[in-house]
Amino acid sequence: MKPIVSIKNLVKAYGSFTVLHRIDLTIAEGEVVCVIGPSGSGKSTLIRCINHLEGFAAESEIVVDGVAVLPGANLARVRAEVGMVFQSFNLFPHMTVLKNVMLAPMRVRGMKAEAAAARARDLLARVGILEQAEKFPGQLSGGQQQRVAIARALAMEPRVLLFDEPTSALDPEMVGEVLDVMKKLAGTGVTMVVVTHEMGFARQVADRVIFMDGGRIVESGTPAALFDSPQEARTRAFLRAVL
Ligand code: ADP
Ligand code: MG
Repeated sequence: MKPIVSIKNLVKAYGSFTVLHRIDLTIAEGEVVCVIGPSGSGKSTLIRCINHLEGFAAESEIVVDGVAVLPGANLARVRAEVGMVFQSFNLFPHMTVLKNVMLAPMRVRGMKAEAAAARARDLLARVGILEQAEKFPGQLSGGQQQRVAIARALAMEPRVLLFDEPTSALDPEMVGEVLDVMKKLAGTGVTMVVVTHEMGFARQVADRVIFMDGGRIVESGTPAALFDSPQEARTRAFLRAVL
C-alpha cells in the first residue's frame, strides 16, 4: 500500500485553544476514507491542513505524494495534487460551467484552451451535466453546481480529492445525485477523503471510517466494524444520535 497522504503528530491551535491533538493518519493510494463526528470535532480543520488552507504546528508533519506540506515553493505543487470540494461549491459565478472546469488546467498546468475544453467536456459528461456546459453557475441547481465543482476538482487530475460535507448545503432531493457521482468516482480508484454526515454513503462506499471527537481520532475501522461494533463509548453515543 503506497501512502498518498501521511500525517504525523498533527497539532493545530487557535491561540490557546487546541483544535487538533496529535493526529496520526496515513491514507493509501486509492483508499476512500470517510470522516464522521460531531460538529466542532475538527473534521474540517483536519482536511484543510492537508493542502495547507490551515497552517499547523511546526512539530507536525504532513506529506502528500512525497512532498512536505509547508508554506513556500512546494505548496503550489501540493495544491495542484490535492483537489477540494466544499459545502458551498465555490464556483466562479461570472464564468460558464465549461470555463470553470477549464480554468485551473490552463492557469496552473499551462494547458491549451482546446485541450482544456475537451477535458472539461469529458468530465462534465462523467458527472452527468454536459448539457449545462454553456450556462453560468447561478442558472444551475445546487446539486448540479456541486457536480460541476467535482468536475472542476478532477480537471487537475489530483492524487487525492478532499470533500468537506459536499451535500450539507443541498436541498434533500439533490443529495442523491451528488452522492451517486461520488460513489461512481470511488469505484474508479480515486483517493478520497470525505467529511460527511451521510452515514449510508460512508457505510456503502468507505474503505475506512474515522470517528473524530474533541480534535482526536477516537476510533477508526471498516464501515462494518465502526457502525456495527463500535468499541468506544463516544462512538456509540454519536451513532445512536445520528442513525
Ligand atoms: P468540524 O468540521 O468537525 O465541525 P472544525 O474543524 O470546523 O470542526 O472546528 C473545530 C474547532 O475549531 C471548533 O471548536 C471551532 O470552533 C474551532 N475553530 C475553527 N475555525 C476557527 C477559527 N478560525 N478560529 C478559532 N477557532 C476556530
Ligand atoms: Mg466542518
